[in-house]
Amino acid sequence: MNGTAFALEAAGQKYEALGYGVTALYIVAFSLFIYGLMGLTGPKTAVRGNWIAAVGMGIAIVATLLYVYNNPPSVDGVPAINWILIAVGLILGVVLGIPPALKTKMTAMPQLVALFNGVGGGTVALIAWAEYIESDGFTNIHEQPDVHVIVGSLFAAIIGSVSFWGSLVAFAKLQELLNKNLEKALVKAAKGFQLANIVLAIAAVAIAIYIGLSADSAEATPWFWIVALLIIAGLMGLFVVFPIGGADMPVVISLLNALTGLSAAAAGLALNNQAMIVAGMIVGASGSILTNLMAKAMNRSIPAIVFGSFGGDDAGPAGGAGGAGGTVKATSAADAAIQMAYANQVIVVPGYGLAVAQAQHAVKEMASLLESKGVEVKYAIHPVAGRMPGHMNVLLAEADVPYDAMKEMDDINGEFNRTDVAIVIGANDVTNPAARNDPSSPIHGMPILNVDEARSVIVLKRSMSSGYAGIENPLFFGDATSMLFGDAKKSVDSVVEELKAL
Ligand code: NDP
Repeated sequence: MNGTAFALEAAGQKYEALGYGVTALYIVAFSLFIYGLMGLTGPKTAVRGNWIAAVGMGIAIVATLLYVYNNPPSVDGVPAINWILIAVGLILGVVLGIPPALKTKMTAMPQLVALFNGVGGGTVALIAWAEYIESDGFTNIHEQPDVHVIVGSLFAAIIGSVSFWGSLVAFAKLQELLNKNLEKALVKAAKGFQLANIVLAIAAVAIAIYIGLSADSAEATPWFWIVALLIIAGLMGLFVVFPIGGADMPVVISLLNALTGLSAAAAGLALNNQAMIVAGMIVGASGSILTNLMAKAMNRSIPAIVFGSFGGDDAGPAGGAGGAGGTVKATSAADAAIQMAYANQVIVVPGYGLAVAQAQHAVKEMASLLESKGVEVKYAIHPVAGRMPGHMNVLLAEADVPYDAMKEMDDINGEFNRTDVAIVIGANDVTNPAARNDPSSPIHGMPILNVDEARSVIVLKRSMSSGYAGIENPLFFGDATSMLFGDAKKSVDSVVEELKAL
């Protein structure tokens, strides 16, 4: 064997060893992703789960950089890798990612998730664009066009772009950046957007097929086809989310999240990168499961959410008596304290307002005082109470509320009719009996907490304003209901003082 052949063989062995090393690191990373995800199933282990998955992602990045360092892509036989650009990307990611994640309040998490999710989808679309340009429209990948590269890239281009633009609209809606009248007009124009989307979807598929078939020809496919595909998919993303309003937004964010995962997996297929395929599939699968669970919890089908506007009708803030009919009775902290202190069982119904007011510690103190007086206290948790799945569980766990006192909707609903007092703290939509009783209600069919069946209902909120779905709540006008107006934390603090004085 001559010297050159020897050197080549040694180099080959080195690359083979490196390939095994990178694969081993990827397997460690995937295992950490899955182990971390398991931690996210409970508030106690969620923070640790997040850290474990983040370490997994760090390992996946190191493995990818190692691979690229030893096996750089080449243009005309010359290694082509821009480390400065990679370093700038890493620094930008850290600078733009960490501060908002640390500073964002928990009530604004859905917006942050929508934004981060959008960035993921946008990245995937850019990867697909780069693949297309680099290979002259997939015409010079190999001697034979690689079907998995073409299909993976085109899927990633379409779904990544839909996810990016759709997530930006979701962010704007959740952050209330859209003018209310404009938002209402968009919801009303749902049918028009659906028609436009059918046309756009046909155009996107036609262009994708054209690009795929052209990859067989010797001539480069012009750059503008991929740009047209990205623009058309982007319009689809905008048009799908524009008419979705009110209470459906959590499901939409979860759906977009699942789409981003799937598009990342497709891009991983095109780039032959196992880390992207596995991480993308994990996000796609968990996002799809979450979407399904949330849709089920709201008694909605996913097509009905995507194709039918819902919850955007603004009944507006209900003022005093009227609207739903009946009169509104105001109560005082002293009255509320007396009612609860002499009850056998009190059910606390937390909602978004509890998170805004950060009343969880005060609520725990109130419950402990009641328990010391022999009252049984339970917490009724609706799956979409607050602004993100599990929001109420996390808040209450922070205040050391025992897990076995937090009851899921199906477990607690049968108990309201034998409960003396239900105290609703900053919840609105999730207690709206119109969802059960009024077929004309925009949220009809969504399962709710049967608070109206309790012998006495005390509602803590600041005004008669509507909740997230923008609709009036007849519960507030019920015969058994009294309203304790004010910030939830201040109101609960006052009730605590009254309980101490009893
Ligand atoms: P809602 O949004 O229906 O109602 C919250 C109520 O809290 C408001 O009516 C508001 O009334 C009151 N409130 C706000 N701030 C305070 C405060 N400081 N003190 C006292 N009360 C306050 O909340 P729900 O939890 O009942 O329902 C959640 C809604 O959000 C559903 O429509 C759901 O679909 C949607 N959603 C859920 C997500 C999830 O994943 N959980 C994500 C995104 C949306 P007032 O202004 O009068 O005080």
